[in-house]
Amino acid sequence: MSRSVLVTGGNRGIGLAIARAFAEAGDKVAITYRSGEPPQELTALGVLAVRCDITDSEQVEQAYKEVEDKHGAVEVLVANAGITKDTLLMRMSEEDFASVVDTNLTGTFRVVKRANRGMLRAKKGRVVLISSVVGLLGAGGQSNYAASKAALVGFARSLARELGSRNITFNVVAPGFVDTDMTKVLTDEQRAAIVAQVPLARYAQPEEIAAAVSFLASDDAAYITGAVIPVDGGLGMGH
Ligand code: NAD
Repeated sequence: MSRSVLVTGGNRGIGLAIARAFAEAGDKVAITYRSGEPPQELTALGVLAVRCDITDSEQVEQAYKEVEDKHGAVEVLVANAGITKDTLLMRMSEEDFASVVDTNLTGTFRVVKRANRGMLRAKKGRVVLISSVVGLLGAGGQSNYAASKAALVGFARSLARELGSRNITFNVVAPGFVDTDMTKVLTDEQRAAIVAQVPLARYAQPEEIAAAVSFLASDDAAYITGAVIPVDGGLGMGH
């Protein structure tokens, strides 16, 4: 199988592991990156790297044109790009709130809407949104992030209903704490406190999130839509 796969924010962390997994399985993979240079490893794997800020609809349109030109219409979309701007509500500016929502939620809307065009035409498609256990559990100091990640569940489930008859599935993966740049900012004490709450008593590796995403995009998951799959070591159990 050599599908046209697009992973947003695929230049590092979880997105990079997802891109690597699809490329190693033989798919035609494109990633978006926002700044800097994409890692050389991706070029070696034949992954197409396209610069794109998902807060800008024009850049999203240009990125899709380039991907479609080189790989054909996107058949599998993984909306992974996301940011945090953590602070307590009393210190949270409107900009802190709006920019996180604009990236994590509205940015996801922009890339999903654009992918939908080709998926409708092809009468098939797989969309996987990367949420977070924090969207289900909540976390002090992360109300903006948690709100944006919880919203992805309502977004995916609405689209699962809207477009299920068109053979397009929409699923959400909710990772727990994963070893990436995003969590490197945490202090040793914060890390220890988190691990103490995780039944599996460790962080996830990005490859463990990629495995769930690959499954949701596979033929074996053809009858799964509107699901929220936790990959969190048990942290969010019951939510
Ligand atoms: P990361 O910071 O290493 O990577 C985030 C990626 O998103 C980067 O490639 C970045 O360039 C991209 N990005 C951010 N803003 C963008 C924008 N405006 N336009 C285009 N790209 C943009 O983080 P990560 O840990 O790999 O996180 C990947 C996803 O997984 C995020 O959505 C994050 O919220 C989610 N997540 C992470 C964890 C964790 O513990 N690391 C846990 C749960 C969920």
